Amino acid sequence: MPIYQYDCAGCERRIDVFFRSVAAAAEAKRPACPECGSRRLKRVVSRFARARSEGERIDSIDLEQEMGRMESGDVAGFSRWARRMGEQYDSELGSDFRTLADKADAGEDPVERVDAAHTLRHRIERKKEQISAPSEPDA
Ligand SMILES: [Zn+2]
Repeated sequence: MPIYQYDCAGCERRIDVFFRSVAAAAEAKRPACPECGSRRLKRVVSRFARARSEGERIDSIDLEQEMGRMESGDVAGFSRWARRMGEQYDSELGSDFRTLADKADAGEDPVERVDAAHTLRHRIERKKEQISAPSEPDA
């Protein structure tokens, strides 16, 4: 159950607002202060906010090690590796490792493998940029 903190400009309290779900929280962009009813609430982004932990998790991806596992040179090894990478990262980073695995299984050119390293590196960097410079939170 998500708990968001707000500073209320009406009564100058810091309040916690509980939501049934993340979806409910997204719908209630401007909840009313339970103390005074004001809607002049400003979301407090705690230092344990999701963006930060996500950034730390992205930081913890050991790219060299992950890439190193790819350099076995055999296609079956690459395919297994790419599939595992895909399970871990495709949805999060928007990468395309499952497709690479399929291509490797189909016997396509290994040039794509070099591109895989470049692409993952690029996507991780871009994800970090997004996390460190987030758009304005809902006011
Ligand atoms: Zn208030």
